[in-house]
Amino acid sequence: MVKFLSVNIGKLVNLSCKIAGKGGTSLPGKIALSADPNLIKKLISLIKGNKVMITGTNGKTTTSGLIASILSANGKKVVYNKEGANMKTGLATALIKSSNFFGNLQKDAVVFEVDEATMLIIIEEVQPNIVVITNFFRDQLDRFGELDMTVEKVKKALLTLPQDSIVLLNADEPFTASIGDEIKSKVFYYGIEDNIEGINSFSFEQKYCPVCGHRYEYKRVYYGQLGDYYCPNCGKKRPNPHFKATNIFLNEEGINFDLHYKDKVFTIKSKLIGLYNVYNLLTAISTGILLNIEFNTISKTVENYLPIEGRLQKTKIKNKKAIINLIKNPIGFESTLNMLSQFNKPLNLLISINDNYADGRDVSWLWDVNLESFLSKTKVNYIVTSGLRAEDMAVRLKYAGFDIKKIKITNSAEKAIDMIAELTKEELIAILPNYTSLYDINKYFKIQEAKK
Ligand SMILES: [Zn+2]
Repeated sequence: MVKFLSVNIGKLVNLSCKIAGKGGTSLPGKIALSADPNLIKKLISLIKGNKVMITGTNGKTTTSGLIASILSANGKKVVYNKEGANMKTGLATALIKSSNFFGNLQKDAVVFEVDEATMLIIIEEVQPNIVVITNFFRDQLDRFGELDMTVEKVKKALLTLPQDSIVLLNADEPFTASIGDEIKSKVFYYGIEDNIEGINSFSFEQKYCPVCGHRYEYKRVYYGQLGDYYCPNCGKKRPNPHFKATNIFLNEEGINFDLHYKDKVFTIKSKLIGLYNVYNLLTAISTGILLNIEFNTISKTVENYLPIEGRLQKTKIKNKKAIINLIKNPIGFESTLNMLSQFNKPLNLLISINDNYADGRDVSWLWDVNLESFLSKTKVNYIVTSGLRAEDMAVRLKYAGFDIKKIKITNSAEKAIDMIAELTKEELIAILPNYTSLYDINKYFKIQEAKK
């Protein structure tokens, strides 16, 4: 018997997308939802196991990828919106793709990455037993909007959860941590406790004490407004994390750190790189522990986990070492630069900036990135700028004090990659594209791959 006709409609659309050679990350869901607006709720009700929801500005995709892998390694069949389609239509598409033609969904766990703005609508339909929040920053699209309003929206969504649900929050990010004071769920915190050197960031969001309204001060800042903060007036401070990362070691090959939970210490090794991946790992591992998954299963999964395409991905261009990382907002850009300077190696950069709709049309956010600090402490030999706004990026670099004779400009991704390879001797190449530029960069690598 056909359970949900809308699933069939969605599957047909998905099939036609495949035939037409299009990805179909949202369209099948969009059409199926117009046939049955309650489709997500109905399909989700068929899943009896863990329902994990991840939201926040940065780190959602890597964190949810890690959590989905941990659950799979634990023998669960997972529905996961891995294409990063994190609106309602994307979730419906993921569910439709996981169903058979009879509308049966033989899966036993859900991992959904959800956009902060649509959280309230989606949480009601999914009824997650655990919600994970990474951090809150201004995205380039809403950089003039109120960050507090986004936090309020997420808090309102969390207030609809039953009391036995779990909410896992970043203790180091004061906007995220503040949510824990006001919700009814069981709250757990994670955070870093290490003397690692932080980033001198333009993307610091001042948070005021929710008790007395005084400015928070910091004993230590890791990046943005993440760190060890306290109120000098009333004594309110960063919550003591249940899950702590200490002894952090970072280089261009990976990350090692110790994770403390209760009286246990676990050693974590990962091929992911950079300080903000310590947060992603800490978040995902804490989730695994809260879901009662054996630590061996978690640590093996984490150790073998490779970055998602374009997320601190290691590659080679004409036998020269390169790293590709998506930069989509000032804080993401700054953390990437900070990670690169931590390697203590000479660098050549390729920065590719488009201003298509998905990127945000306004590229003035490039001026919110502390390039000055990065360039003053890092040896950079050449920078190629590319994409539709290659010239804007070059102007930004010129004003940051970079020698204009060492900037090369081209609008073509292909030419830019050839140029940077040509200029490179011993340097590490870092390719930093924004959202739609990443597509152009990946196309180059796919063509190269196909030629082999
Ligand atoms: Zn206070």
